[in-house]
Amino acid sequence: MVNNTKHSKQRDALIEILQSTDTHPTAEWVYEKMREIFPNVSLATVYRNLKHMIEIGMAREIYTDNSSRFDANMTEHYHFLCRKCNKLIDIFPEGVSSEVKEMKKLGFEIDRYDLSVYGVCKDCKEADAV
Ligand SMILES: [Zn+2]
Ligand SMILES: [Zn+2]
Repeated sequence: MVNNTKHSKQRDALIEILQSTDTHPTAEWVYEKMREIFPNVSLATVYRNLKHMIEIGMAREIYTDNSSRFDANMTEHYHFLCRKCNKLIDIFPEGVSSEVKEMKKLGFEIDRYDLSVYGVCKDCKEADAV
């Protein structure tokens, strides 16, 4: 039972860490933050807890070319990935996309959908122009 308490404490801390940021961190970033609280925590444990959060619907994983990123914001939104600074920026849609409407018209049942937009963010574009 001692173990269970320890595990749920780590889980709570992990949820708090992920909810405290909107930068869509990597598992490694979360791991560094976790180590400030639990010096002995392993990266494998952090991964396991992240997967658990996804399973229970408290987080989602966003796959980018070179890493997985994690997001605890479960409201309906998309992501923009900047290829220069790797920033993941939230995009909040205005209503249902026309593609989804089209699929529904064809008789498909849509559970969820995701959209990723790739390019160069405003900051990087401005930095380039200088
Ligand atoms: Zn950028
Ligand atoms: Zn997000």
